[in-house]
Amino acid sequence: MKRTKISALLQMIPQGQMVNLKGWVRSFRNNQFVALNDGSTLHNFQVVLNMKAVGEGMLKRITSGACISVTGSLLASQGKGQSAEVMAKEIEVLGDCDPEKYPLQLKNRPSLEYLREIAHLRFRTNTFGAVFRVRNTLAYAVHQFFNEKGFVYLNTPVITASDAEGAGEMFRVTTLNIKNPPLNENGEIDFREDFFGRSTNLTVSGQLEGELGAMALSEIYTFGPTFRAENSNTTRHLAEFWMIEPEMAFYDLNDNMDIAEEMLKYVIKYALEKNNHDIDFLAKRAEEEEKQKPQQERAEMGLLEKLKFSVEHDFARITYTEAIEILRNCNHNKKKKFQYLVDSWGIDLQSEHERYLVEKHFKKPVILTDYPKAIKAFYMRQNDDEKTVRAMDILFPGIGEIVGGSQREERLEKLEQRMRECNLPIQELNWYLDTRRFGGCPHAGFGLGFERLVQFVTGMGNIRDVIPFPRTPKNAEF
Ligand code: ATP
Ligand code: MN
Repeated sequence: MKRTKISALLQMIPQGQMVNLKGWVRSFRNNQFVALNDGSTLHNFQVVLNMKAVGEGMLKRITSGACISVTGSLLASQGKGQSAEVMAKEIEVLGDCDPEKYPLQLKNRPSLEYLREIAHLRFRTNTFGAVFRVRNTLAYAVHQFFNEKGFVYLNTPVITASDAEGAGEMFRVTTLNIKNPPLNENGEIDFREDFFGRSTNLTVSGQLEGELGAMALSEIYTFGPTFRAENSNTTRHLAEFWMIEPEMAFYDLNDNMDIAEEMLKYVIKYALEKNNHDIDFLAKRAEEEEKQKPQQERAEMGLLEKLKFSVEHDFARITYTEAIEILRNCNHNKKKKFQYLVDSWGIDLQSEHERYLVEKHFKKPVILTDYPKAIKAFYMRQNDDEKTVRAMDILFPGIGEIVGGSQREERLEKLEQRMRECNLPIQELNWYLDTRRFGGCPHAGFGLGFERLVQFVTGMGNIRDVIPFPRTPKNAEF
């Protein structure tokens, strides 16, 4: 008999019809009621066993974690908590699970830290089931948003030889024998003998290649893995994360901000509609977690409220210079409550500053623009003041920076001059500069960290809990 997913069973009208369902046992009580979950939805489905029909030997094998296949009739449920149930006629154990050894057998709810150590099994919990269904929906919504707008999904390389972008520390890719690498005349490693005939790395951003695509296809986006060997053990950094990088010809900074804001609202709204049960569940989880925190650290809004609020209100838009003024004059700064005091124009904002602006001052998402050029990348368009560039960062409550973007410098001389100031190898980036030589145009783009978006929508505090297999310093398990 063909299997019906639990998500579909829940939509059917129970009329005693025969159905087959398969899944993993979540609980088994009174030797009679099995709560079965198959991951298609947060909800378990109740299977009712008739002891006589099932037999003692089989009953013993129905333990939490075991995988079973059940065929039986779909009936309206007498009990509370579910509207339908399956009265089992036939049961088959597809995979036994030793209850003595099964790590999720714990009576107390396992901590997120513990579940990270058994990340290969954590998909089986309600929390991670919900998180990864929401993650899937968000990915789908991102593709849908850009495709509706006529963007071309472009895949940029994972292995690159350009090490000039400066977005982060890189992981080297090599097939050289690390015990005995070939050396050149100067005694340095000779990468001419390496696989690609030169030194290569894992990409830290697909932006430069994305710009090449936009200079022909008008509007492109990438959505792929990104690698940064940053040794920062924070709740917002991974060594391997997924980034969405749209790049648009003929867009200025305002167009760039508009589409970024529109996209974020679109995908959040999409998830709120599609995964309402999962998000409700995660909201309750987050609320319980909040209660553990001291009063003044608690978020003012619950998860659902926060998501709806972000979708319904315009993001605040201010310049870096205005932000510095706000921060410099705020009581928090005057009372020296920041770890890094805000005393002068030009400083790089720390996440405590970003969070103050978003969570305490504006109480909503904020887009900061026109940063000092010294703290931003070489490719950002220079303003006439000679001090700032057309950058924009989007800051989200509880997360900090979720998007980093800019209008790009399309004027060849200005770009080359900036590259010289930054000591970048102009020769090596000739392919990039060709876009400015051969029919360049004003253009803009941004990078959205996908896991930070998933963190925001699921309310998960640690980025390691929104990617199936997190890679962080000293951790590449599974
Ligand atoms: P941060 O200051 O938070 O390290 P960044 O300035 O290095 O971020 P960008 O280089 O602008 O970030 O990258 C674009 C986006 O990619 C960021 O806005 C963020 O959402 C995401 N991002 C950057 N680094 C990481 C990381 N290590 N793990 C997860 N997401 C990241
Ligand atoms: Mn960074």
